[in-house]
Amino acid sequence: MGHDPLTGLPDRGLLSDRVGQSIFNAKRASKSIAMLVMGIDRFTIINEGLGYAAGDQLLKEFGERLSKVVRQSDTAARLDGDKFAVMTPISAIDDSVIVAEKVLKGMRQAFHLKGEDIFATLSVGLSIFPTDGKDFDELLKGLLSAMSFAKQAGGDQYRFFASDMNTKAKNRLELEKRIRGALANNEFVLFYQPKVNPKNNQVRGGEALIRWMDPVRGMIGPGEFIPVAEETGLIVDIGTWVMKEACRQTKAWQDMGYEPIKMSVNVSAHQFRAKDLIDKVVANLSSCGLDAKWLELEITESMLMNDIDAAIARMQKVRDLGCGLSIDDFGTGYSSLSYLGRFPITTLKIDRAFVRDVQENSNTAEIARAIIGLSRGLNLEVVAEGAEILEHVDFLRDNGCDSIQGFYYSKPPQRQGFRKNASQARRVKSCV
Ligand code: C2E
Ligand code: MG
Ligand code: MG
Repeated sequence: MGHDPLTGLPDRGLLSDRVGQSIFNAKRASKSIAMLVMGIDRFTIINEGLGYAAGDQLLKEFGERLSKVVRQSDTAARLDGDKFAVMTPISAIDDSVIVAEKVLKGMRQAFHLKGEDIFATLSVGLSIFPTDGKDFDELLKGLLSAMSFAKQAGGDQYRFFASDMNTKAKNRLELEKRIRGALANNEFVLFYQPKVNPKNNQVRGGEALIRWMDPVRGMIGPGEFIPVAEETGLIVDIGTWVMKEACRQTKAWQDMGYEPIKMSVNVSAHQFRAKDLIDKVVANLSSCGLDAKWLELEITESMLMNDIDAAIARMQKVRDLGCGLSIDDFGTGYSSLSYLGRFPITTLKIDRAFVRDVQENSNTAEIARAIIGLSRGLNLEVVAEGAEILEHVDFLRDNGCDSIQGFYYSKPPQRQGFRKNASQARRVKSCV
């Protein structure tokens, strides 16, 4: 038991051992594990056509590619012949699809064998612990049959052991395609939800929230497509559009003579890490002539925790432009209290979980009060989201919250509704 001499990857015995260990840990933590088994399509033809030495070379290079696409927490192994395996801890089924797609993609680049470019593809079987099997042997049995289904279907694809998973994976791919189409066809729109000063009911700002107007299914909320857009990287294009459109609209309102307001846009993890974030913000602002102080970016705590110093540097660049920077859903992420003082932010947004039951739960009320106090101490603006009833608004106002966003004042209305409601926020409720 140990390593396969040709590729240097763990062999079947070592893999079985590691899977056993991971299953043990996963059981204790109620986590899931995905296993993938992959075989090279028409390997025999390559092997016999180009000779065994070239076949070995292909296996070796594939082993190297495989080690590169998997994460450190994963195990890539060679089972036997042209069969390889990957084990990866997952938090959602989609995670396993991402690994399968990466592996398939990695294989599609040419291999240089005996001076020739050889193209090869894979058939991948997928199974999940604990749904598809309780131990290595059971999982492997399912995997091999899933892999042969992928082969029978023509190769260069993956199949789950459980058939309903195949449907789910297909739906996800379908959704990805439709999101691409939606971008090309301009099917996204922004709704603007006001942030209101509870002392005088004046609108202080707004948040741009994306909706997808699907010609077939009607309006689709961000919860249904933002996660897939995040996974596939499509969020970068969507985010670019959102920022541009929100800036354009904010400036258009100013030009129409309305009192200027600060507009927030949600920035995803992908977007926030992108090298050209700052360039894009600058280009947007200058193309529509909006002063930076009217734009605020909303980010979440979890985006900042990977590499704190890099995140702070990026945040500082946003601030140097003159834009506002807000931590969204505060209190639900890693609650980085120790870092909060170092973050060059302007605003904290109390998550609606803390607002929802301030009436019933005195602990929650205490947390909401503490976040407001913390913001004051750090000289930050504090916005509460999710205020739905008068009691929420009264509580937040009495405890010194600067702005309130919530259904009490207004659901996110479309463009026209926002301005109609903006001057008299109290009346908004009866308009939506
Ligand atoms: P978020 O940024 O925390 O936005 C606030 C969400 O709370 C919005 O949901 C809003 O409609 C909802 N909300 C506001 N007031 C109330 C209330 O009183 N009660 C309840 N129950 N909900 C309230 P929405 O529009 O469905 O957006 C959900 C999430 O999707 C947003 O959470 C944000 O994380 C994401 N999102 C929305 N637009 C974009 C976007 O353009 N780009 C990115 N990356 N994410 C977006
Ligand atoms: Mg937000
Ligand atoms: Mg939020």
